Amino acid sequence: MIVGVLALQGGVSEHIAMLEHLAVPSRAVRRTEDLDGIDGLILPGGESGVIDRLTRLFGLREPLRAAIGAGLPVLGTCAGLIMLADRITGAAPGQQTLGGLDVTVERNAFGSQRDSFDTTVDVAGIGAIDASFIRAPIVTEVGEGVDVIATLPDGRIVGVHDGHRIGVSFHPEVSGDPRLHEAFVRLIAEIRRR
Ligand code: GLN
Repeated sequence: MIVGVLALQGGVSEHIAMLEHLAVPSRAVRRTEDLDGIDGLILPGGESGVIDRLTRLFGLREPLRAAIGAGLPVLGTCAGLIMLADRITGAAPGQQTLGGLDVTVERNAFGSQRDSFDTTVDVAGIGAIDASFIRAPIVTEVGEGVDVIATLPDGRIVGVHDGHRIGVSFHPEVSGDPRLHEAFVRLIAEIRRR
């Protein structure tokens, strides 16, 4: 199994370290060829407007959309969740997402008062995990076939799953809790066996 990490901008090394910790081979994805032979892909956090521009600049947008559309397992964290969402509110001018996950996300949903914080989040099937929220988005609409796997105590949705794709608002790779990555690796293994 090889898990790719989109390596254009943002928290790439933290995800690679997490995969190393789980003894799962990883590959930094910067060019179209890097997508060949990967079994899953992580879209890291960072700045979704920048990641969007770089995917287009490097000719990665259409190959990524094709791979995601074909059912490549994808884990998106924070800006990665934004990239994976079909719809965004609060987008930067001209900002597009890759899409694939039938949700609407609101960028920078926590505002400047409380724009970064650490907390524990209960994730379905995993339990309470340590999570960092850094200028995080929230999920404001969930399409059919998408399960909510994590909410904050006030009910705001911060984790979703649609069978092949997992998106979370927060950064488990920053707090260093490996269990979401473990669950993603289990999902990839399951999909490979089908
Ligand atoms: N606010 C960022 C964005 O809109 C996401 C922040 C993050 O990934 N930590 O892309």
